[in-house]
Amino acid sequence: MSIETLYDKDGDINALQGRTVAVIGYGSQGHAHAQNLRDSGVNVIVANRRESDNGKLAIEHGFDPLPVDEAVKQAGEGGLIIVTLPDEVQPDVYSASIGPNLKAGMTLGCTHGFNIHFKTITPPEDVDVVMVAPKGPGHTVRSEFERGGGVPCLLAVEQNKSGQAFETAMAWAIGVGGGKGGILKTNFKDECETDLFGEQTVLCGGLSELIKAGFEVLTEAGYPPELAYFEVCHELKLIIDLIIRGGLSYMRYSISNTAEFGDYHTGPKIIDDATKQRMREALTDIQTGKFAETFRGDFAKDFQWFKAQREKDHAHPVEQVGKELRRMMPWLKPVEI
Ligand code: NDP
Ligand code: MG
Repeated sequence: MSIETLYDKDGDINALQGRTVAVIGYGSQGHAHAQNLRDSGVNVIVANRRESDNGKLAIEHGFDPLPVDEAVKQAGEGGLIIVTLPDEVQPDVYSASIGPNLKAGMTLGCTHGFNIHFKTITPPEDVDVVMVAPKGPGHTVRSEFERGGGVPCLLAVEQNKSGQAFETAMAWAIGVGGGKGGILKTNFKDECETDLFGEQTVLCGGLSELIKAGFEVLTEAGYPPELAYFEVCHELKLIIDLIIRGGLSYMRYSISNTAEFGDYHTGPKIIDDATKQRMREALTDIQTGKFAETFRGDFAKDFQWFKAQREKDHAHPVEQVGKELRRMMPWLKPVEI
C-alpha cells in the first residue's frame, strides 16, 4: 500500500471517553455514525428536524433529536461535532447554528472534505478539524458494523489545535467500525479532489453518458430499445460485480473470447487520448475550485440548471424502456423514482 493504513490496534476508542459526540443530520451517513458510535460506548446526541422521516427514524432508534445549535451547545467542552448534512446545505447551517456555538477545544468533523477544502466553511483556529469518510453508503456502514466488521474509511486532520486531533479522529473511525476494514490516512485535498473527479468522470458522469450514448447509437440505427437496454445497461451489473471481485483480469477471464477480443480492439477507440485530455480538464476545474463555484452558483439559484438536467435525463428513452423491463425482473427489486 502506498498510503498508511491503520487498524483498531493503532488507536483507542477511549479518546472519546467523557466527551459528547453530536451527529448533525440523520440521513445516510448520520444514522450510521450515530448508532455505531453509540454501540461502541460513546455518548452520542443527534440533531435533526423531528418531524421529517429521518427525524422520526432517529426517535425510533432511541435518540432525542435536537435543533442544531442546541446539539452543538450540549456537546460542549471537548465535544466532537460530526456534520452529516448535504454538502450544499452545510455552509448556511454552519454559519447560523454550528460556528457561533463552537468553543475552543471542540472538534469539527466531516464525512467529506468539500466545504472545508473549498473554504465555504472556515472554522475558528481554536478548534480541531478532522474527517472520517467511510468508503461506502451509510446503510453499509451500519450493516457491516452490525455484522462485526466495518467499511474502510479515509481519515484526515486539517487542523490540530489540541495536539489530539488525530487521536480523536482515530477513536471516531474505530467507533464506526473503520478499524476492522482499514483506516487510510489522507488529507482533505486528496480526499475531496479524487472523490469529485471519480464521480464526475467515471462513476456517475462518465458512466451515465456512456450508457446513453450506446443506447442512442443502437436505437438510432433501428435496433429495438429493449435489446439496446439489455446490452448497454442491464448487463453492466454482471461486469461490475466481476471487476469489483477480481479486477479487470477476472472480468476478462469470465467473459467470452469474443467479448475480450472486442474489449481490447474497440475500447481504446471509444475512450481515447482526447477523452483523457478532457478528464484532465475536469480535474483542473476541480482543483482550481471552478467546479465548486459552479455548484454553489446553481444552488444559489435554487439549483435551476441542476433540476432541469435531472428532468431531461429522467425523460430519456433509456429510462422509459428500462422501467418497463425492470418490472419483468422482480428479483432486481426494481425501484421507480
Ligand atoms: P443525506 O441526504 O442522506 O442526509 C442529510 C441529512 O441532513 C438528513 O438527516 C436531513 O434531515 C438533514 N438536512 C437536510 N437539509 C437540512 C437543512 N436545511 N437543515 C437541517 N438539516 C438538514 O446526506 P448523506 O448522508 O448522503 O451526506 C452527508 C455527508 O456525508 C455529505 O458531506 C456527503 O458528501 C458525505 N458522504 C456521503 C456518503 C453517502 O454514501 N451518502 C458517503 C460518504 C460521505 P431531514 O430528513 O430532516 O431533511
Ligand atoms: Mg463520492
